[in-house]
Amino acid sequence: MAICTGCSLLCEDIVATFENGALLHEKNLCRKGHGHFRAAFTERTRPMIDGEQVTIDQAIEKAAEILKSAKSPLLYGWSNSTLEAQAAGIKLAERLGATIDDTSSFCQGILMERILSGKIPSCTLDDVRNYADTAIFWGSDPSSSHPRHLSRFSYYPRGEKRQRSYEEERTCIVVDVRKSATARLCSNYYFRVAPGGDAQFMEAILAVLDGKIPKVADKKKMIELSSVLKKTQWGAIFPGLGMIYSLQDKMDLFEQLLSRLNEVTTFKVIPMVGHCNTRGFNELMFEKTGHTNSVSFQGGSAEHGPKYSVITAAKSSDAALAIGSDPLSALPFGTARALARQPLIAIDPRRSLTTDAAKVVIPSALSGMEAGGTAVRMDGVKIKFEPIMKSDLLTDEQILTRIMEAI
Ligand code: SF4
Repeated sequence: MAICTGCSLLCEDIVATFENGALLHEKNLCRKGHGHFRAAFTERTRPMIDGEQVTIDQAIEKAAEILKSAKSPLLYGWSNSTLEAQAAGIKLAERLGATIDDTSSFCQGILMERILSGKIPSCTLDDVRNYADTAIFWGSDPSSSHPRHLSRFSYYPRGEKRQRSYEEERTCIVVDVRKSATARLCSNYYFRVAPGGDAQFMEAILAVLDGKIPKVADKKKMIELSSVLKKTQWGAIFPGLGMIYSLQDKMDLFEQLLSRLNEVTTFKVIPMVGHCNTRGFNELMFEKTGHTNSVSFQGGSAEHGPKYSVITAAKSSDAALAIGSDPLSALPFGTARALARQPLIAIDPRRSLTTDAAKVVIPSALSGMEAGGTAVRMDGVKIKFEPIMKSDLLTDEQILTRIMEAI
């Protein structure tokens, strides 16, 4: 069996065979995972310096030279790297006195930090399958982002206490700005919120739970929702980026809603993390520094704050290393431009906008296919995997170790 690193569900029941570098046969992959496996051998990178092909040793030497001579290097990405590579990256950041950040600093990191510090109750997806009678997809759309979420864990499967499953025992609620694929597919209740209106929606639920009149147009529907929540025996909320971006600095309100709901019944939270190992990086960083991301090791100690988020740090760094992500495609234009203007090192198995703009490109083995390791599922469960094919390429971890040795 193989595991799929196409999203943070890390499905472990995948059967895949390849022939001559192409996917020949597969079983259990969703459409997203199928695309992930099928694209594995296209657009592979080669070791490059300034657009010229070099040996892997030369590329690693050059990367080490750039990082060593930089005054404020930035190490960014990590969300698609294994835990082993992430740990090597954190060591490298400490050694260099660098700033280190990952994709969660502008998405789920704020919520993950509250979960890891115990302020917001969480659980595993297996608990959801076994016990949950209510699942709330808030600003998230698993049918598109994590296509096997509903079938493996949250809606369709039978569980220890949910033998009658979605036909009779599971209620699905979708709160979103639009009627998403998930809302169309499984929602017993769909609540449309205006863009940026999630805080107001939470206040309305809190008001009804406290027996007050909610300040929303459709009071009847809100009272109906409150009654479903109160009747829930064991519920799970899956917040997506829609909720995180809308709440911004009002995350305390979500914490307040959770604690109020847990006075009446049981509700847990699992953030709908996108990349396959974002949570792994968050957990390693939290263990080391008490924060999930945006940390600077300059001066020998760990400092955390928004100025160390990639969005700000990219504007003051004088060299950057991108790994396990494609920041030039994903980040805002100003940040991408700042990264492209400095000596940029890209460690990636496949070609991307970032590798195209990088001064140094170091090809790596594909995690989950050519490289084994460990990743952390969106719910905190560690998944170990073995490579399913032979490769002469170095893993992310080996590349980072060699850069460290060269420094
Ligand atoms: S749900 Fe995610 S991990 Fe599972 S097969 Fe699809 S893309 Fe891969």
